[in-house]
Amino acid sequence: MPQYEDYVNWRRTFHQYPEVSEQEVETTKRLKHILENYDIKILDLPLKTGLVAEIGSGEDFVAIRTDIDALPINEQVKHEFISTNQGVMHACGHDIHMATILAATTSLKTQEDTLHGRVRIIFQPAEELGYGASYITETQVLDGAKAILGFHNYPSLEVGEFAIKPGVLTSAVDRFEFKIYGKGAHAATPDQGKDPVIVLGQLINSIQSIVSRNLSAFDCAVVTIGEVSSGSTWNVIADEAYVQGTVRTFDENVRDQIQQRLDAISQGLAQAFDVDIDLNYERLPGAVVNDEELTDKAIEVAKKVGYKVEMLEQPLTIGEDFSGYSKYYPSVFALIGSQSEYDLHHPLYDPDERILEKAPEYFVNFVKQLLNN
Ligand SMILES: [Zn+2]
Ligand SMILES: [Zn+2]
Repeated sequence: MPQYEDYVNWRRTFHQYPEVSEQEVETTKRLKHILENYDIKILDLPLKTGLVAEIGSGEDFVAIRTDIDALPINEQVKHEFISTNQGVMHACGHDIHMATILAATTSLKTQEDTLHGRVRIIFQPAEELGYGASYITETQVLDGAKAILGFHNYPSLEVGEFAIKPGVLTSAVDRFEFKIYGKGAHAATPDQGKDPVIVLGQLINSIQSIVSRNLSAFDCAVVTIGEVSSGSTWNVIADEAYVQGTVRTFDENVRDQIQQRLDAISQGLAQAFDVDIDLNYERLPGAVVNDEELTDKAIEVAKKVGYKVEMLEQPLTIGEDFSGYSKYYPSVFALIGSQSEYDLHHPLYDPDERILEKAPEYFVNFVKQLLNN
């Protein structure tokens, strides 16, 4: 049975051969190879990358999820197992996630006969794109799951620390983009054109009225415009303008409401100023919502395993594609300390591997508690 040194070796190998979202071909092969070595069943599913393994038998099942993709970042960490794939790096620690879940899987495999049910282990592609979870859920392999368990390594927590929160844990992250098509003209003859800059000004003001005038005092959201552009010189009326920004929400209804308002503003201004406006609204990951009962169990298990548990008071404003599971199935997502000076997605991100000492145990214990009690 694999031990801590094996977990570290797995992690380092994954780290050396990172692949970006949707291109995790060699990573999938490597995972398959390790799982087959331990005689672990891999389900036959129509996935281009990633896979789902299974242990145990019986009606009931729970699932554990790890993501497997890396980022288009040039690694700057100095250690002997740096990325060999120039410009690609496991800067979000999904290498740590894979090693943790593989460790838990191989350990559960040795206890297969004692499990009262099945465990499906999800090795999910394309987390960083915000929609990899949908590739898994579309196969319906999780329909009927009693629980989906997941985690993220978290650099601001020390090794041995564990943080969690019932209900909303992360925000939904969306991106919007407006293209305003007016009609260019000489700056001296505005009546001959349709000035998109005037529409741009109105658009900025109107967008900023959504949170202040359309949302209830008890809802919260952020709408930020990050980029505007139009025109190229002082004496010409431009023919186009561009605006893009982001919406962060913690509730699906608020999210829908903001998207509808953006749409209405776009149509209204187009009519009022006789221009064409295209709105592109991209829904990136939704909010991760932790099931209350499962959160209580997670805390109990984490304490039993020896973690120092911290309750988060507020949701995080980062996005996480685990929301693609928590939307449909009872789920719980935790943050486990990986103690790094640099943050996730930083070229110097260097998680502390000792996270691998305890994290697998959390999943093994949790699965047993859910299936056997
Ligand atoms: Zn990430
Ligand atoms: Zn991540």
